[in-house]
Amino acid sequence: MNAPRLVIDGCAVATVTGEEHESGYVAIEGRRISAVGNGSVPEEYQDAPRVDGSGCLATPGLVNCHHHLYQWATRGLAQQATLFEWLVELYPIWARLDAEIERSAASAGLASLALSGCTTTTDHHYVFPRGAEDLLAIEIEAARVIGLRFHPCRGSMDLGRSHGGLPPDEVVEDRDEILASSEEAIDRFHDPSPGSMLRIALAPCSPFSVTRPLMAEAAELARRKGVRLHTHLAETEDEEVFCLERYGVRPVEYLEDLGWLGDDVWLAHCVHLNQAEIERFGETGTGVAHCPSSNARLGAGIALVASLVGAGAPVGLGVDGAASNEAGELAMEMREALLFARLAGGAAGLTAREALELATIHGARCLGREAEIGSLEAGKLADVALWRTDDLAHAGISDPVAALILGPAPRVELLLVNGETVVEGGELRTADVGTVAADLRAASKKLIGKAGQHVS
Ligand SMILES: [Zn+2]
Repeated sequence: MNAPRLVIDGCAVATVTGEEHESGYVAIEGRRISAVGNGSVPEEYQDAPRVDGSGCLATPGLVNCHHHLYQWATRGLAQQATLFEWLVELYPIWARLDAEIERSAASAGLASLALSGCTTTTDHHYVFPRGAEDLLAIEIEAARVIGLRFHPCRGSMDLGRSHGGLPPDEVVEDRDEILASSEEAIDRFHDPSPGSMLRIALAPCSPFSVTRPLMAEAAELARRKGVRLHTHLAETEDEEVFCLERYGVRPVEYLEDLGWLGDDVWLAHCVHLNQAEIERFGETGTGVAHCPSSNARLGAGIALVASLVGAGAPVGLGVDGAASNEAGELAMEMREALLFARLAGGAAGLTAREALELATIHGARCLGREAEIGSLEAGKLADVALWRTDDLAHAGISDPVAALILGPAPRVELLLVNGETVVEGGELRTADVGTVAADLRAASKKLIGKAGQHVS
């Protein structure tokens, strides 16, 4: 009853429940939202500390559904490459990841997410060089320090080049070791309790870097332990050719045969799907992490987001790794998603409000958290973004949601995660961004220098 209170008032409010307020309030008690409404704040909150939200728009905090934080240390390389060319150039560099580089890269990525309105993020970590410290534990600690709700995936690769896979043998692991480490990560870190700040998922990397037995056994382990499943799928035509040649089926059929479609699964990219496959996603409730900037950066194609949503599939947004999208700011991806959907399907392809839904409630569905995050409602967790929409970049756009999505990414005036302040006045409050940037610069130099690679 005595949880600390906070009121944001005088702001436009987009709850993402279908209800919007031109001038309203969001009230918070402890780590939960206690009231959202139109007009002035109710009498009972008159004594609570107040944030003046005038000139701003309050939305649910954004949810990032796909990332590789370690890639912050290898930005700007393989600039003209396709996915397979890019991977072949980068795998040997990633093989030299260590604890210090991981810590710096993860901190940089998480800070950039926070500054772009993201309150919950996943990470897909699949490179575990032999002899390195526990890199998953290091990124988990970085997320605790920056203050984001975190769903890290214990990723993996066990199909090296000598057995027909794409990655060099030096970066793949033994299947039994992967499964043992995955189970240990769940036992050690996964918190299934309500309001959890940390949940683990299992995420073998892709059809061309993982064996069929590992895919099957990872699914069995995830379901036995009650955690979610994630992987890359149908990102490029090269992957489709690989699956047809090696497995005799298209990527979606390969996954379905392995029991990998379902409402406890979300898949990154899903660019190359046919209509029947799109319908299977809807029927099974399989989620998609749409990563428009990364897909464009690698020339992979445009995912059919409107069709997937129309079929009933959850479609969240992801920045993807910072080596295939040198901007890891999630707010930008809402605009990219809208623009790409319109390139694919015409001007009615996706509305600004639908783009906001992808980044919030759809993302929450992908992570199985829609009862707790993804909209502004009494009882949900206090993950809130307050965006400035009266500055030069947005002034005169009377619809604040249009300002947020169609305009440039606004400055974040306030970001609350679990009721705690992470960003205030456009500044990160949990770490010094100058130090984070300096550490990242040193980490990138160390990693790229060590591998003997040069920027092309
Ligand atoms: Zn990825």
